[in-house]
Amino acid sequence: MTQIAFIGLGNMGGPMAANLVKAGHKVTAFDFVQAALDTFVEAGGVAASSAIEAIKGAQVVVSMLPAGKHVAGLLLGDEHGNGGLLSNLAKGSLVIDSSTIDVETARRLGLAAKELGIDFVDAPVSGGTAGAKAGTLSFIVGGDQAAFKRAQPLLTDMGKNIFHAGDAGAGQIAKMCNNMLLSVLMAGTAEAIQMGVENGLDPKVLSDIMVKSSGRNWALEIYNPVPGVMDGTPASNSYQGGFMVDLMNKDLGLALTAAQASDSSVPMGQQAAKLFKAHGDAGHGGLDFSSIYQHYTNNKV
Ligand code: NAD
Repeated sequence: MTQIAFIGLGNMGGPMAANLVKAGHKVTAFDFVQAALDTFVEAGGVAASSAIEAIKGAQVVVSMLPAGKHVAGLLLGDEHGNGGLLSNLAKGSLVIDSSTIDVETARRLGLAAKELGIDFVDAPVSGGTAGAKAGTLSFIVGGDQAAFKRAQPLLTDMGKNIFHAGDAGAGQIAKMCNNMLLSVLMAGTAEAIQMGVENGLDPKVLSDIMVKSSGRNWALEIYNPVPGVMDGTPASNSYQGGFMVDLMNKDLGLALTAAQASDSSVPMGQQAAKLFKAHGDAGHGGLDFSSIYQHYTNNKV
């Protein structure tokens, strides 16, 4: 049993924190949203009235917040460095940030924690809200070996696949590389199927051909973007559920920023980012990202 402070009980953090409670840990949580705290208490957790209160007696802090500025604000405090959690934690504590944030902030937090003798890992997730509820998330971890080893058992209580990508920030980079590739694969798959359909092919027949040919990829195998081609996909459910266009746009923005900072050439990622942004701007940000297929059918790009 570990005493854990969990900060951020949103769509992802709520079920993740509940899974830590289920695994037998003492979890005290804080969120600005009272309803989220109430749900957590019903799940057996303890609600705190601030983040500082939540960390009292905690050996481990887990954060699951929207973006880098929220995590930096939480851990480092305001611009004067006041009120941040890091300076209020005991030496030897462990901080796990599972938010998807920019690499620069993740690295900065890793350094700040190290200076205070605190272990830090960035541990962004893949698997969405369904994975968070089922405890089957993939965690992609950045941090030194000792910090990773400490975090691993707790991450296993919330997920299934735990990867160590490298030092602090590496988890974020690996997640961005994956999601940028995913965006390219999904856009390319939608594009190819649409071209076939425009030439009189049945999308299911074409998908069956390509999934057994060299164009095979994850979108064709388990996440076909065309309604009715595959059961159980967001495409066959009016693009509801799954991974929202808005979140893909957020991740692509982070990927392009990281590419620029490392002077990496990412022309395919840039093109995919343009397509998904146009799709979101057209009012489809709340749909699953496979709805990019509609962008082709509606706009004849
Ligand atoms: P969310 O907006 O549902 O939840 C964020 C929560 O953080 C909110 O409840 C908010 O009140 C709280 N919060 C913000 N600042 C806070 C602070 N300083 N102290 C306490 N609470 C604070 O977001 P989410 O969908 O749970 O996503 C969380 C992170 O996980 C994001 O970085 C997102 O990119 C990533 N992610 C989300 C998904 C998904 O499918 N939703 C999938 C993978 C990764």
